[in-house]
Amino acid sequence: MKPADYPPPFDAREFVAAPADPEDERIDVGVLIVGAGPAGLACAIRLGQLLENAPEVRERLGEVPVAVLEKGKQPGSHLLSGAVVNPRALRRLFKGRKRVDEMPFYGPVEHESVYFLTSKRALRIPTPPTMKNDGNYVASLSQLGRWLAEQAEEGGAMILPETSAVKLLAADGRVRGVRTGDKGRGRDGEQLGNFEPGADVVARVTVLAEGTQGHLTGVALNRFGLAGENPQVWALGVKEVWKVARPLDRVIHTMGWPLRAASKYREFGGSFIYPMGKDMVTLGMVVGLDYRDVELSVHDLLQELKTHPLVRKLLDGGERVAWGAKTIPEGGLLSLPKQLHAPGLLICGDGAGLVNVPALKGIHYAIESGSLAAEAAFAALQRGQTPSTPGALAVYDEALRQSFVWKDLKEVRNMRQAFGRGFWLGGALAGAMTATKGHFPPGDTRTERDSEQELLRTDRAQSYPASDGKLTFDKLSSVFASGNRTRDDQPNHIVIRRDVPPELARMWERMCPAQVYEATAEGVDITPSNCVQCGAITAKGGRLTPPEGGSGPEYTLT
Ligand SMILES: Cc1cc2nc3c(=O)[nH]c(=O)nc-3n(C[C@H](O)[C@H](O)[C@H](O)COP(=O)(O)OP(=O)(O)OC[C@H]3O[C@@H](n4cnc5c(N)ncnc54)[C@H](O)[C@@H]3O)c2cc1C
Ligand code: SF4
Repeated sequence: MKPADYPPPFDAREFVAAPADPEDERIDVGVLIVGAGPAGLACAIRLGQLLENAPEVRERLGEVPVAVLEKGKQPGSHLLSGAVVNPRALRRLFKGRKRVDEMPFYGPVEHESVYFLTSKRALRIPTPPTMKNDGNYVASLSQLGRWLAEQAEEGGAMILPETSAVKLLAADGRVRGVRTGDKGRGRDGEQLGNFEPGADVVARVTVLAEGTQGHLTGVALNRFGLAGENPQVWALGVKEVWKVARPLDRVIHTMGWPLRAASKYREFGGSFIYPMGKDMVTLGMVVGLDYRDVELSVHDLLQELKTHPLVRKLLDGGERVAWGAKTIPEGGLLSLPKQLHAPGLLICGDGAGLVNVPALKGIHYAIESGSLAAEAAFAALQRGQTPSTPGALAVYDEALRQSFVWKDLKEVRNMRQAFGRGFWLGGALAGAMTATKGHFPPGDTRTERDSEQELLRTDRAQSYPASDGKLTFDKLSSVFASGNRTRDDQPNHIVIRRDVPPELARMWERMCPAQVYEATAEGVDITPSNCVQCGAITAKGGRLTPPEGGSGPEYTLT
C-alpha cells in the first residue's frame, strides 16, 4: 500500500479563476510578489533598486509599484531554515549599499565537524567537499527575513502580512494576479462577526516566491503545463533553538544514527547543529520523505538525537526556546519545472525547487533567483514591452541557466537519487559525483514521487524517548514553542481522504510534527489548528492549502 493510492480530493483547476471583483474594486499593483521569504524579498529589493533609476517606469506602475503578500503574521513568521548562509547572492544584491557585517548574522563559520553516529559513538570523518562552509555565515532565516523586509520597504515595496494568496487569477492565457483568502469564517465556512472577504489583486507581473510546496506554484505548473519530466521530492526538517550554558565553537553535521542504513527503509538525511552567537545553539534533523516506515517520526528522531552523548553534552544546562518544522524540495536540477515563466508570471526560490541537497543550501539560490526575476520583470515593463505576451519573460529562464545556481545544481544533480539506494552505496556514488563534478556516473537519474513509496511497518517507534520536558518534548509542547496560536474554529485547510486504511492513517499521525492527525477506527481525524504548515502532507498523499492569513506558527528565531 502506498499513499498515492488514496489521492486527496483536490483539483488544481478550482484554484484558477478570472478576476471577479468589479474593476474599480480590484487592488491594482505594478509587480505582485507572493511570499516574503528570501526569494520574494530579494525580488522586491532588486525592483526597488531598478525603479529608483527609472522614474518613468515607476510612474506607469501606479500608486503601488511593488507589493509583497505574506501569509504569516509578519515577515519572518513562517521562515525556518538551518541556517548557514552563503553570502554570495546577498553581496551581489546589495553591492555598494550594504556590507555583510551590516546584515543580521551570528558570525562567520570558523570551524566545522562532520560525524558518523552510532547510538553511543561519534566518529569524526573528513568534511565532504560539498558540505564545506568556509566563508559562510550563521543566521536565523526568520531574523534575516525581517531585515530583508525592512530593506524592501525602504526601497518602496508595500508588504502586506497576514494575507494568503489562495487563487491564481488568469484570463486570456495570462496570469493577472491572485485572489487573497477570506478572513473570519467559522469551521463550516459560515461568516463570523469579523468576516472580511478576500480581494482580487491584479498586476502587470506576478512573481510566485512561495517557498516549499507553494500552493499557487503547483496550481500554475498545472494550468500552464510547466511541470518537468521528473516529479519533485521533499525532505522534512524539524528544528529547535536552545539557550545553552557553554558556547559552541563550530558547525556540526551528523550522518547515520538515528537513521537506519538499509536501503529497504529509504532513510536519507542527517542532522545539523549550528552556534547562534555565544549563548544559543540551533539543531535539527532532516529526513527524506521517500521513507517507507509507517512509524517514522522526524520530530521523535530529533528527540532521540538529543539523547546521544555528543549532543546531550552540548545542551546540558540549557533550555529549549523555539521549535519549528518545514519541508525542503530535494529533487534538484532534474526535478525543476521545464519552464519557470508563463505569460505575466515568474516562479523563483524553493517553489521552483532551487536547493542544493548535499550542501543543505537554498537561501542564496532563492535570493539570486528573486533578483533575476526582478530584472526580467523590469525589462518586460519598459515602454513598448508587454510582460503578458508569450515568451516576454523567457529572459528569466535564460539568466538562471547562465547563473551560478544552475552550475552548482548541475554538479550535484544525481546525488539525492543515489541515496535512494541505501546509505553506503549512495555515499560511494556521491563521492564519485563530487570528485568528477557530476560527470560520473554519467546521465540523469529519475526521481519517484514520495507518495509512490510502498509503506512498511516496524517497531521503530518503541525506541523514541519519552518526553521529560527538559531535554525531550512531545509534539504538543513543540507546537506551543512554535508560537502557533491559530484559533481552533477556522475552516479546515488540509485536504486529505478521511476513509483511509489504518496503516496510512498511522503514517500521517507519526509523520506530522505538529500532531494534526489521529488514526481512528474509521480512518483519520484532524486538528488543523495545530498545523505549522510544514508541507509534509502534500508530499505524502494529501494537500496543504493556505489557511487564513495570520495563522500558523509565529517563528522569530528559526
Ligand atoms: C530545516 C531546514 C534547514 C535548512 N538549512 C539551510 C541552510 O543552512 N542554508 C541554506 O542556504 N538553506 C537552508 N535551507 C533551505 C532554505 O531555507 C530555503 O531554500 C529558502 O528558505 C527558500 O527561500 P524561499 O524564499 O524560496 O522560500 P521560503 O523561505 O519558504 O519563503 C516563502 C514565504 O512565502 C510565504 N508564502 C507561501 N505561500 C504563500 C501564499 N500562498 N500566500 C502568501 N504567502 C505565502 C511563506 O509564508 C514564506 O514566508 C533549509 C531548509 C530547512 C527546512
Ligand atoms: S498537518 Fe501537514 S502541513 Fe501541517 S504540520 Fe502536519 S504534516 Fe505539516
